[in-house]
Amino acid sequence: MTNKQKALIWFRQDLRVKDNPALDAASEFEHVLPVYIIDETAPERAQLGGASSWWLHHSLTSLGKALQNNILIVKGDPKAILKSLIDEHQIDAVFWNRQYEDWQIKRDSEIKTAIKERGLIATSFNASLLWEPMNILKKDKTPYKVFTPYYRKGCLVHSQPRLPISTTQPKSFVEVDYNFEANLSALELLPKLDWDSDFTNHWAPGEEGAASKLSRFIEQACLAYQDGRNIPSIRGTSQLSPHLHFGEISPNQVWYAVLDAFDGDIENKNIDVFLSELGWREFSHYLLYHWPNIHTDNFNTKFDKFPWRKDEKDLKAWQFGNTGIPIIDAGMRELYQTGYMHNRIRMVVGSFLVKNLLIDWREGERWFWDCLLDADAAANSASWQWVAGSGADAAPYFRVFNPILQGEKFDKEGEYVKRYCPELAKLPPKFIHKPWEAPSNILNACSVVLGKNYPKPIVDLKSSRLRALDAFSEIKGG
Ligand SMILES: Cc1cc2nc3c(=O)[nH]c(=O)nc-3n(C[C@H](O)[C@H](O)[C@H](O)COP(=O)(O)OP(=O)(O)OC[C@H]3O[C@@H](n4cnc5c(N)ncnc54)[C@H](O)[C@@H]3O)c2cc1C
Repeated sequence: MTNKQKALIWFRQDLRVKDNPALDAASEFEHVLPVYIIDETAPERAQLGGASSWWLHHSLTSLGKALQNNILIVKGDPKAILKSLIDEHQIDAVFWNRQYEDWQIKRDSEIKTAIKERGLIATSFNASLLWEPMNILKKDKTPYKVFTPYYRKGCLVHSQPRLPISTTQPKSFVEVDYNFEANLSALELLPKLDWDSDFTNHWAPGEEGAASKLSRFIEQACLAYQDGRNIPSIRGTSQLSPHLHFGEISPNQVWYAVLDAFDGDIENKNIDVFLSELGWREFSHYLLYHWPNIHTDNFNTKFDKFPWRKDEKDLKAWQFGNTGIPIIDAGMRELYQTGYMHNRIRMVVGSFLVKNLLIDWREGERWFWDCLLDADAAANSASWQWVAGSGADAAPYFRVFNPILQGEKFDKEGEYVKRYCPELAKLPPKFIHKPWEAPSNILNACSVVLGKNYPKPIVDLKSSRLRALDAFSEIKGG
């Protein structure tokens, strides 16, 4: 008979107590030891970016509160740490929720084998995906490469997503001589530069913050999502991405909360489109599982010969929102100030970097990785490759977003641009997306001095588009 005395739950990207299958299993034991490990053996590309570190600090604070500060937070090699905790506290069972990157799978299966070899229990669960990537294959048993058949014929037909569970909470905790708050601050996750000052105005990391974002979305935005999601000046989307990334809410909770709120009305286009965005999230994890190198390698190998430009000055202008193209600058400044950028604008700034500036998508991916609070290995690399045209089911390379037309269509009055580029605030809508076309009397009246208080465009949009198409034609056949 199994000894049900002490269980360890290893938290990873599941920083919540509700709908948490691993915590639920651990709570069947008399005493529970919750642990979070900052994995120092992770590959360099997987080390946390600056914005994610900020989020993690606050998310762990929130999880700590929910567990009466009984969570042990440590840094190092998970294999060694778990072994020593099992020995020190005579743990009978270890539970965790699965992660799906190749190095995580390898690490976890070695740990599972080592624990089982000692005659102890080691069990993992799915808590972060609606459909696990190994279960969705085409009839010929190969993975899908195109989103719509993957989602509509693969996932939706395969099974209904698991219903959220009401997690049992631990009866008591394993006693550990440990100061949660001191240890958390010793990890120095908060940025040293005063760059995060605006984050707290926009975000409340943790399970409660996630739940309130979900309720707001359901009450105020969901039924207008199809159009609202394209307008960057309003909150037409859920802003759940960092919460989902850190697992403060499961996609299952989101999926069923939306369906329950609207009586399962999947015929409603707004609901269908929103659920399919959760499907895109699944698809990016699916791609990373089946093609583990999509962080670094072009999915479409034709792009290996693409003649990217190296230009530090242009890259810096893009990163810090000084390109002289207002919608691009507003997006990049939104990212830097708030740790987030609206999806439509992510596509526009991405297209501008790889197509108008001809800079390698990997530069954009790295910058986003450092600056985004929702930086996610799967969604970030899959989306960058989508934008570049090198990805699975990608936007065709010849579709170059015109940032002026995108601005005029989705930010008609220029409200979004004005929010992040206040130096342009007095410009009339006619010129807000192309200040260089404004007559000098209007620029003067609006206190805009191009090249002084707002940059002149660093690139000509028409000729740089043609340059991109020429570059593409070089690799098209090969
Ligand atoms: C260049 C680029 C980089 C991106 N990098 C990331 C990233 O690092 N992390 C990240 O979570 N998303 C990324 N995205 C996808 C998307 O922009 C964000 O998920 C979305 O803007 C988050 O806002 P939201 O939560 O309000 O989304 P909503 O519109 O409310 O969508 C609900 C959820 O669906 C998922 N989702 C929506 N769109 C996508 C998508 N295109 N791909 C994958 N999942 C999606 C997210 O989890 C999101 O929270 C990127 C997109 C682009 C174009």
